[in-house]
Amino acid sequence: MRLSDEEAHATFKAIRWAGNGGEPFCPHCGCVAVYEYKTRRIFRCQGCLKQFSVTSGTIFASRKLAIRDILAAIAIFVNGAKGYSALQLSRDLDVQYKTAFVLAHKLREAIGAEMKSRTVGGEVEIDGAYFGGYVKPENRKEDRKDRRLLVNQSGKRRVVVVMRERKGKTLPFVFDAEADSLPTIQARVRRNSVVYADEASSWDALHARFATFRVNHSVAFKDEDACTNQAESYFSRLRRAEIGTHHHISGKYLHQYANEMAWREDNRRVDNGAQYSLVAAAALAHAVSREWKGYWQR
Ligand SMILES: [Zn+2]
Repeated sequence: MRLSDEEAHATFKAIRWAGNGGEPFCPHCGCVAVYEYKTRRIFRCQGCLKQFSVTSGTIFASRKLAIRDILAAIAIFVNGAKGYSALQLSRDLDVQYKTAFVLAHKLREAIGAEMKSRTVGGEVEIDGAYFGGYVKPENRKEDRKDRRLLVNQSGKRRVVVVMRERKGKTLPFVFDAEADSLPTIQARVRRNSVVYADEASSWDALHARFATFRVNHSVAFKDEDACTNQAESYFSRLRRAEIGTHHHISGKYLHQYANEMAWREDNRRVDNGAQYSLVAAAALAHAVSREWKGYWQR
């Protein structure tokens, strides 16, 4: 927060164009001959004559926040091990809730982007857990319904299925039901992988494709090497984010929180300075967000 405007701008430049020694090039045509207006922190391409700023063409395009505030938001965001709520971020930065909400979601989108084409392999633990769609029980006992029955549920409950490499990467997806995840698992878990899952019948079909080991959690949590403890740790972090930080996660955005927590698990032993650089670099390498740009104007 102590950075001057000049220093914040220089930091952004160095991160965004790290691959070019921190020297800007045109986001429209790629030309490296660029003129910098000293007073306005705007660049002009000598090739196509278009103007651009340090955030043009990135996820922070058409920003209203100062660059220093964006850098501060990234630092605050990475330090929230259980996630970070938009309300708290808006207080920290002294900006509107709506601004903080969109900014945090843009950061989630940027770090989730690296999972888009990811596959996992080796020893992979697979498990599912349900989130959202909480139905509050009626006050009086005689009015209460059996919330286990489909007809008495909200229809908003979703399952997060995670594929997690032992000592490796984490890859979560959101489905309506656990069994819906099988085509995705086939596409994302490489052949010749060894798969670990629990006793749930959804996973029976895995045996046909992978060497699969099952652990019956009603008997033991760890059976020889058949356990899904890594997948469970991931869910524990996502659950703590749901209960402790956000209190309520909308099914619509559950995949974004699932990706965020996967990233936090995978980078949990990386020091927070390096985490900060990773998120900043991911965000500045990410194209304009189709989901979040102009979100509140829609
Ligand atoms: Zn150009």
